[in-house]
Amino acid sequence: MTERERLLETAAGMVDSMESDILRISHAIHADPEPAFKEFHAAQLLEDFVARNGFSAVRGKGELQTAIRAQRTQNRGPSIAFISEYDALPNGHACGHNLIAASGVAAAVAFDRLALKFGLPANAVFLGTPAEEGGGGKIKMLEAGMFDGIDYAMMIHPADRTMVEDWSLAGQRVFLRYYGRPAHCAASPWLGANALEAAVQTINLVNAWRCQFRDYSRVHGIIVRGGEATNVIPEYAEVHFNVRSDQKDYHGELIRIVINCAQCAAQAMGVRVEYSLGLAYDPVANDKTLERYMAQSFEALGETVMPRMRTHGIGSTDMGNVSQKLPAIHGHLKLVEASTHTDEFCAAAGGEPGDRYAMIAAKAMVMTAAGLAADGCLAARQENPG
Ligand SMILES: [Zn+2]
Ligand SMILES: [Zn+2]
Repeated sequence: MTERERLLETAAGMVDSMESDILRISHAIHADPEPAFKEFHAAQLLEDFVARNGFSAVRGKGELQTAIRAQRTQNRGPSIAFISEYDALPNGHACGHNLIAASGVAAAVAFDRLALKFGLPANAVFLGTPAEEGGGGKIKMLEAGMFDGIDYAMMIHPADRTMVEDWSLAGQRVFLRYYGRPAHCAASPWLGANALEAAVQTINLVNAWRCQFRDYSRVHGIIVRGGEATNVIPEYAEVHFNVRSDQKDYHGELIRIVINCAQCAAQAMGVRVEYSLGLAYDPVANDKTLERYMAQSFEALGETVMPRMRTHGIGSTDMGNVSQKLPAIHGHLKLVEASTHTDEFCAAAGGEPGDRYAMIAAKAMVMTAAGLAADGCLAARQENPG
């Protein structure tokens, strides 16, 4: 057996020796689903686990109280971050984040043990990232400096098939507020300025653009406010759009189109419009080296790696922002043949398929990191940080 083979076998064995902790963490988080930024029990469970294993943990500030960064204090070389998500949906852990939590924290601890045992030039960092479902926890953590000094970041998300390639859409919300003037609809409608009609015409103008949008654009909106009474010309209206594109540059152009439609509609109707923008989600750009090592790891564990087809459903994730800043991977491992956010997926994440998943995902991440270390990728990165 070569030294490299011994390293990878030990990596998998380290995860096996942690099985009871991995399943305990996965089951506890599944049984106690907490929404975005309110994942207090999950964060405490994960922090306690890494602290018991020699890591020093810090929490984020303010809204990021449930965000965690943990590592040993001494520096042994480049830092590899293993990411956990743990926020739930209204229908429980239907996105399987309890599995991302358990496998991410286990991979961090197992890789730390492996690095100590073999003297690998690398730091294992645990990153607990809250509020993936719409809250953009990782975007806020990036802004708060909680990813500073990380050389590689990885996570695996449960899915209906195993894949190392990924793509996701850049996404951002556009909030439009229209200010008109009320008037009696029958007695003196000409005195009013109709905020609702400006909102409706904005949607019509965006729809007029639709056949000229580039492929993989998604622009979808709703009227949130549209008046208070049928006999009053609406003085206030509010429209929210979600604007998505698979191209970061074009995404900015789409947002300008939507704002321009709103301003033109408002001008036509004699009302004033204001806009503001939500968090900007970047598209995922997986690191090709990490994809190669993760694919090898999955295959060594008996998984069949499928290509990521454009016909597969696609959304947006805050891991996209991480992947645009540093070498990172958002991989997928098969949980069940059901789509995420369904009750069936939720049940699988808390049952036997989930237990199997958590062990394989943790092993695949430790083996990916071990492979990088064995082949000198980490030393090369330290000499030539990108
Ligand atoms: Zn989800
Ligand atoms: Zn998810």
